[in-house]
Amino acid sequence: MAEGVGEQARPDGRREFLAANLERVRERIRRAAASAGRADEPELIVVTKFHPASDVRILAGLGVRSVGENRDQEASEKAAELADLPLAWHFIGQLQTNKAKSVARYAAAVHSVDRAGLVSALSKAMVQAEREDSLDCLVQVNLALGAAPGRGGAVPEEVPALADAIAQAPGLRLAGLMAVAPLGEDPAAAFARLAQAAGTLRQAHPGASMLSAGMSQDLEEAVAAGATHLRIGTDVLGRRRTVR
Ligand SMILES: *Cc1c(COP(=O)(O)O)cnc(C)c1O
Repeated sequence: MAEGVGEQARPDGRREFLAANLERVRERIRRAAASAGRADEPELIVVTKFHPASDVRILAGLGVRSVGENRDQEASEKAAELADLPLAWHFIGQLQTNKAKSVARYAAAVHSVDRAGLVSALSKAMVQAEREDSLDCLVQVNLALGAAPGRGGAVPEEVPALADAIAQAPGLRLAGLMAVAPLGEDPAAAFARLAQAAGTLRQAHPGASMLSAGMSQDLEEAVAAGATHLRIGTDVLGRRRTVR
């Protein structure tokens, strides 16, 4: 873990704490992109779950434009409180269909689309919300070896049908794939399978170019595997009070 992360800084030192962590993470991303020989630089989504709206406001002042949240109630409250800021809200957690209507009010993207029922619910909610833009949807892939269909993402065999459903759904845009590296396996190996699935997806849907992978512990491996969007919480904000 980066130096400084997890320190309980004085309230008036919070900006300096976040600025230093953010710069360290940005430097790690630049280095990882350079050593992977990438000309582009992946986009940083700062995961602000469990941290107060005041932190998100500081981060926006430091140039952060994309934030990630995993619970609808917390995300919708923060988005409302910070509506004056130019932020894109990325929903990255398990999503119940009955929360689709709420998420459609504030989210720019949902990274955790893992079943057909959620595609229909989000599409219906977007049509009702009468937004001018569409909602970027990523299929969350369960990278665990031998994973059974169920929680935590679609198994790789389910991805093509789910992608087609998103591509055809009014109000939604098929943006790409998202995954979390499974515990107990080298993340590079898991992200290699994700990159392969992303290549297959792009053959059928050339516009689906987002690859959301990489957290505080494995951002380098994700960048090497071609991640376009990184979801970093702990190494920017410090430890969360509640462990999930
Ligand atoms: C919390 C979370 C992250 C951020 O993880 P850190 O280890 O704190 O960087 C990324 N992705 C998802 C899906 C998360 O729930």
